[in-house]
Amino acid sequence: MTRQIIVGNWKMNGLSRDSQELVKAITSGLPANSADVVVCPPFTQLGLLTDMLKPTPVKLGAQDCHQEVSGAHTGDISAPMLADLGVSYVVLGHSERRQEHGELDETVREKAMAAAKAGLTPIVCIGETEDQRETGEHFDALGWQIKGSLPDGFNGILAYEPIWAIGTGLAATTDQIAETMKFLREELVRQFGEAGKVIKILYGGSVNAGNAATILPIPEVAGALVGGASLKADAFLSIVSAAS
Ligand code: PEP
Repeated sequence: MTRQIIVGNWKMNGLSRDSQELVKAITSGLPANSADVVVCPPFTQLGLLTDMLKPTPVKLGAQDCHQEVSGAHTGDISAPMLADLGVSYVVLGHSERRQEHGELDETVREKAMAAAKAGLTPIVCIGETEDQRETGEHFDALGWQIKGSLPDGFNGILAYEPIWAIGTGLAATTDQIAETMKFLREELVRQFGEAGKVIKILYGGSVNAGNAATILPIPEVAGALVGGASLKADAFLSIVSAAS
């Protein structure tokens, strides 16, 4: 069995010293034989953390990349630029980027292709709104997001993050996660055939030290994408310890 993966999405938080302290606390408290761990600081912290993380098993991730390799895209960062810095993973299509930056499935798919081409592992986020869950349209919405956001030959990671569970303290129930994971696996196999059987699926949405031990053992859950709780070393390490 492969190891689970715990990804910390720091979002737009932390100045240099905060990030260095957080990384120090995480790396020094990592349990033996730990699950795979990735931290995704803001772009400005990536270069600073590369050297700190090099001698540790913790990998570096970014929170977005542009779909082009270079060019007139003011303020953007390309996948090769991230790879050049020692970044291994990149979170793409997070609901906050979809909402705040109008990112569409098609752009997310192009970004995932660019990331893979640069040697990064894309972590593509999908998730239904509260409305879609309440009206029973969530599976349709997720199926379309998979179709639109994952490129052919995708061999990255899928993160299922119900939007209503992100940052709300209201994680999906174990039944909801189990049922959705089963659906996602079936859908991945339907859309990608054999390759769909091995795409890892993370759960994200208010995972914390208290619920990780209940969420992580759910079938098909290959790990967690953690926002708020990844900013506190003790909480994040508890989640890592709950992973297998
Ligand atoms: C996220 O930002 O991907 C996330 C899951 O946030 P939180 O854990 O705070 O809900």
